[in-house]
Amino acid sequence: MTKKLIDQYGRTLNYLRLSVTDRCNFRCYYCMPEEGMNFVDRKDLLSYEELEYLLDIFSSYGVNKVRITGGEPFVRKGIMDFLEKMSQIEGINQITVTSNGTLSRDQMIELKRLGITKINISLDSLNKQRFFEITRRDKFDEVFQCILDLLELGFEVKLNAVVADEKNISDIIPFVELTKYYPLSVRFLEEMPFNGSGKFEVPKWNHVVLYEYIATAYPTIVKLSDEKNSTSANYQIPGYKGSFGIIASFSRTFCGTCNRIRLSATGEFRTCLYGPAAVNLRDVLRSGASREELVQEIIMAVAKKEKDGFEAESLQAEAPKKSMSFLGG
Ligand code: SAM
Ligand code: SF4
Repeated sequence: MTKKLIDQYGRTLNYLRLSVTDRCNFRCYYCMPEEGMNFVDRKDLLSYEELEYLLDIFSSYGVNKVRITGGEPFVRKGIMDFLEKMSQIEGINQITVTSNGTLSRDQMIELKRLGITKINISLDSLNKQRFFEITRRDKFDEVFQCILDLLELGFEVKLNAVVADEKNISDIIPFVELTKYYPLSVRFLEEMPFNGSGKFEVPKWNHVVLYEYIATAYPTIVKLSDEKNSTSANYQIPGYKGSFGIIASFSRTFCGTCNRIRLSATGEFRTCLYGPAAVNLRDVLRSGASREELVQEIIMAVAKKEKDGFEAESLQAEAPKKSMSFLGG
């Protein structure tokens, strides 16, 4: 029988979010400052060989789903070869990717060949100017074309839109309208305090406000059934091809069914995005630890997973200054 990672509240943790780089070609305001990002040295990143070794350990403990994220995964050299090797690891039966849309058509075709068919693309605005203001890059056309290509190639596409006052409220209805024409899911996210500055205001556009705003515009809104462990509450407008979801990422309404663990590009192992790293697995690995010692570190960290994101946050001495690109979104 496969061994499992189970926490003190009986939750089985089988879903790893793996950040392969902290670097990015965009500068989204909610994720990092426009200038002055200190990206980590290459030598401090887990190498692909180290990642494969750790993934093999995780999979032998029941982790069967891995999301590749970052930073922007496609800016790391060698990512496609790594994904190919990863797709051969026994036990990992679902690999998904989160990207800002910086991938070529050739890479899309290769992803499909590897059986990676679910992809999340971040897109916070359907307006070119607002897209530029949010990402600080003039790449709207490229990202939108990427989404169209992914759909054409048969990918299951989800769009992630972080909703915030004075940024993209006027995009909410156009995003819902996008689901009329395209079979994709748009997910509206509450902004979280991981912009790399340590400054943050509680979001006005929380999941309740968002739902009421959309439901007022669409009285025929239908609630869809959510997958087990889903972080989004999902809805559809009757007759529309796609659907949309609301993710209470700041309000943290879904912690009771959380099945996630995270590994940063430098080996920080977190059992909650809001909490401190439980252990740095790169350091343990590079200290010459045996496989069994690594397993023990992982099991001990997992056992202590906090009840919810509020409890995890309370363990941090000060307001989080880390960027989401470092933590791995
Ligand atoms: N670069 C890729 C991308 O943008 O999709 C992957 C990494 S990004 C950190 C992963 C996800 O985290 C994106 O969907 C992004 O919108 C989300 N994200 C980043 N910072 C956030 C924040 N402060 N609050 C909410 N979501 C955030
Ligand atoms: Fe880059 Fe993604 Fe962060 Fe935007 S959200 S700056 S695309 S890592």
